[in-house]
Amino acid sequence: MAKVLVIGGAGYVGSSVTAFLMDQGHDPWVLDDLSTGFRSFVLSSKWSHFQVGDQDQLRKLLSEQKFDCVMHFAARSLVGESVHKRDEYFENNVYQTERLLETLIESGHPGHRRFIFSSTCAIYGTAANGEALGPPLGPIDESFAKKPINPYGESKLAAERLLERFAHENGLQAIALRYFNAAGADPKLRTGEWHHPETHLLPRVMKAALEGTPIEIYGTDYPSDDGTCVRDYIHVWDLARAHEAAMKRLIQMGQSGGRFEAYNLGSQNGFSVREVIEGSFLVTGKTTSIIEKPRRAGDAPVLIADSRLAQKQLGFQIHHSLEEIIQDAFRWEEKKKTIPRRAVFLDRDGTLNEDPGYLNSPDLLKLFPGVAESLGKLKEAGFLLVVTSNQSGVGRGLIDVETLPVIHERLNAMLRPACGVIDHFELCIHHPNSDCECRKPKPKLILDAAKELDVDVTRSYMVGDKITDVDAGRAAHCKGTLMVRTGEGKGAEHLLRPGQADFVGDSLSEVVDWILARENEGH
Ligand SMILES: [Zn+2]
Repeated sequence: MAKVLVIGGAGYVGSSVTAFLMDQGHDPWVLDDLSTGFRSFVLSSKWSHFQVGDQDQLRKLLSEQKFDCVMHFAARSLVGESVHKRDEYFENNVYQTERLLETLIESGHPGHRRFIFSSTCAIYGTAANGEALGPPLGPIDESFAKKPINPYGESKLAAERLLERFAHENGLQAIALRYFNAAGADPKLRTGEWHHPETHLLPRVMKAALEGTPIEIYGTDYPSDDGTCVRDYIHVWDLARAHEAAMKRLIQMGQSGGRFEAYNLGSQNGFSVREVIEGSFLVTGKTTSIIEKPRRAGDAPVLIADSRLAQKQLGFQIHHSLEEIIQDAFRWEEKKKTIPRRAVFLDRDGTLNEDPGYLNSPDLLKLFPGVAESLGKLKEAGFLLVVTSNQSGVGRGLIDVETLPVIHERLNAMLRPACGVIDHFELCIHHPNSDCECRKPKPKLILDAAKELDVDVTRSYMVGDKITDVDAGRAAHCKGTLMVRTGEGKGAEHLLRPGQADFVGDSLSEVVDWILARENEGH
């Protein structure tokens, strides 16, 4: 039995490995900031909620708990998103990892030098498949040229180089596991894939087939038999088994010096996007139409693993076929519909932050006191956080729609240290006189976001500083609608009809405490 620190254990692969480790009698401790993971995916009763790069909190944890091994899954991992958010990907995937490694080494405990890193085939990029470098469909072994074609792959490669450096200079014993396409779900369905937006093929196919909506495929002119991308799919349970094997290998090595090893994990079989879709139609007995779209930024044409090194050194084997992957993904997709998720819908201006000036200059954005910490508490209690905001400045021509993501990244950067990041932004960008359906006080923003995130509105709350927020929450049938006396709320309270809001508080902290108290009472 090993005591394992599972960093990023509330994400898809991290939670699956946690489930596997528990089944094998190990003792996992989850660390997650819930920026992309979910509270409900934290399967171990032992867990911590902070950012991996938060050295003060990590030092405290490592002085209280001694682990036999550390597994690091926490990362931003969407190829397409990484193209637009390069800095964020490097901050999360590289600099946070560097601070983590420093803190682990500094703690001095031998088990904290055993490190298993969740890496990816994206570090190879198309160079391995390109015309210049040999046969386009050949499996990739660990010696292939590392020429990532997207910032996600670059950031993972940079993190691997960090591991090598720490191995040489600080005695780190590191194994990087380079996954090909992780798919499928925990066979007991305790956890599975649940991203939003979902960019991964299998969950998208499942959702489309179940809902009867068309499935979009990106790129039909790739150098493969049917023109679609070819990928090597590996069941997340096979990945989990490989993590345990890697851990045992490090433990068996004892207190030898620093080392860095890397292994490709895949099935050594490639399947095209069309083949996976057809396989899914067969397994699920459901079909839907296919819409062909242009190539997506950052996608490599063909990625197939040569996993012979992992077979030799880790005893790695594939136990689950593509058919089983599809079956488990399908069972999980059906299970998801039975899992009620809660959210707190939040107005932005006047509720989270002060209003003036920042739309033209995002650096001026200023949170009200206590907001980040309060949102962190909601996350810890299992709520998703959704900003629903009238942004009529766009419709009035006052700001560009491109500015909004910049503001929201800035907002999340301020919320992140306290783990209060917003999961989703739902905006009405229309002119106030446009008579659109989405402007508050109409409930459409809330209902659309709830559908997008699989949230049950009747278990969720709406919080804002304006009467329109309260009315939108009521009209959407939220469990509670609350008002803060910040922003316009200072002057608007007298306009509330009796009982229109369930609670009015001086600050977001007060309102959040009211929600948490009500939930704790079991209402
Ligand atoms: Zn609108």
